[in-house]
Amino acid sequence: MATGYLSEIFVSFQGEGLYVGRRHLFLRLSGCHLRCRYCDTPGSLERTRTFHVYDCDGRRTEVQNPVTPSQLLGYALPLLEAAGGVDGVAITGGEPLLQADFLAELLADARWPRPRVLETSGTQPDKLATVLAVIDAVSMDIKLPSNTGEPAFWDDHRRFLAMSDGKAYVKVLVDADTSVAEIEQAADLVRRQSPASPVFLQPITSAVGRVEISPEALDRFFAAARRHGSDVRVLPQTHRMLGIR
Ligand code: SF4
Repeated sequence: MATGYLSEIFVSFQGEGLYVGRRHLFLRLSGCHLRCRYCDTPGSLERTRTFHVYDCDGRRTEVQNPVTPSQLLGYALPLLEAAGGVDGVAITGGEPLLQADFLAELLADARWPRPRVLETSGTQPDKLATVLAVIDAVSMDIKLPSNTGEPAFWDDHRRFLAMSDGKAYVKVLVDADTSVAEIEQAADLVRRQSPASPVFLQPITSAVGRVEISPEALDRFFAAARRHGSDVRVLPQTHRMLGIR
């Protein structure tokens, strides 16, 4: 049986992308192969000996890593019952696809709520096939070297989108260092591989909910993306504005 490493689990409002505003159960897996400059979950980058389960009053319980699928379900079910009105599960990280075998086993259980939304860097196309049958939607990043400080992943992103079977929507994080050429390249890639996928331009948002990009720059990026696709939206990280996890 596969086991998994978690960072935290909790119920909150989805702050990004297609399901923004929905109440989700978040499963934050630990471990990531990237070190994006803007990463807002530094505590999830390495596997740790324990993780935290937050109840609806914000009280946390420390639990041993790794867990089996049935152990994790055992922690999640009481949260779901106490919260009520949970409209899906967000599988996030870290990079959750680094634990694809665990996720495939975990989500084979019908008791996990739907939709199951996988949030990923979009850089692990070879692992996507392992979980595609048990998830409903993929929130896929296109990582831009100008603001991640990482190399470009254009070929991985291209393969990832081509394999996503129409389940993906795309997030492109933008800030003052982003270039119009990068936005054009990202939007063109989506148009070629998965033209129906919405593209979210997400201004990088500070820990206190401030967006550090001008409206004029956002307009330029929107226009550049729109030249390549019809469904382009601008949406900041709303959970940071609300001051919630
Ligand atoms: S891929 Fe996500 S979790 Fe990993 S470093 Fe980048 S922002 Fe952080």
